[in-house]
Amino acid sequence: MRILGVLFFIMGTLCAMAQTEVIAHRGYWKTDGSSQNSIRALVKADSIACYGSEFDVWLTADDVLVVNHDAVFKGVEIETSQSKDARAILLSNGENLPSLKQYLQAGKDCTTRLVFELKPHKNRLQEAKAVIDGIMMVDRMGLNDRVEYITFSADALEEFIKYAPKGTPVYYLNGEKTPQELHKLGAAGMDYNIRVFKKHPEWIKECHDLGMKVNVWTVNKEEDMKWCIEQGVDFITTNEPELLQKLLKK
Ligand code: MG
Repeated sequence: MRILGVLFFIMGTLCAMAQTEVIAHRGYWKTDGSSQNSIRALVKADSIACYGSEFDVWLTADDVLVVNHDAVFKGVEIETSQSKDARAILLSNGENLPSLKQYLQAGKDCTTRLVFELKPHKNRLQEAKAVIDGIMMVDRMGLNDRVEYITFSADALEEFIKYAPKGTPVYYLNGEKTPQELHKLGAAGMDYNIRVFKKHPEWIKECHDLGMKVNVWTVNKEEDMKWCIEQGVDFITTNEPELLQKLLKK
């Protein structure tokens, strides 16, 4: 009986010490034939078994969701442009700038989790429409249990929490809300820049005590990765997923 007790204790401790997971920032793009926010980068992140692959989403003026980081990309302001103009842009690997639909279609063939960042739009109504259209597209494509939403927009944060299916993780990126504030809003946790956690390392434990999770971006240096792992963060978002995987295996 005593041995059984010890075994349960060890198992419990191991479960409590869940390992930090790797999220590829804008996909795994630092590799041949890849490019930030390309479908190739998503497939590459999946091929090295990242926990998740992050990507950025905008709504064009004619209501098409597309995947890209920049508000203005190669001279085209995405939220005020027609989708045909945004989609005509070539990424550095030769792919056309993907629509969200194409991107999610590729995601269906992967097992990595899809970390959907909605960019803050200048037009508040358009941003709210992007939240709803994004949630509906994910739902129609049968991906509700594969997607996590993240955003810098405090409005979009509340809208994702309100309209995404119950239990869908929604994280806030902007760095100013405390764990208590995010918990009250119903967020899954904080997804903040490493500088915020260096200033407020106590927020990591406070999140965990509230049953929330911690994601840190964008951590590319080995020493910073080690610091985050020591702090027991749940996820690290990085441009160097293979380096982080190597550190986690040590
Ligand atoms: Mg992003």
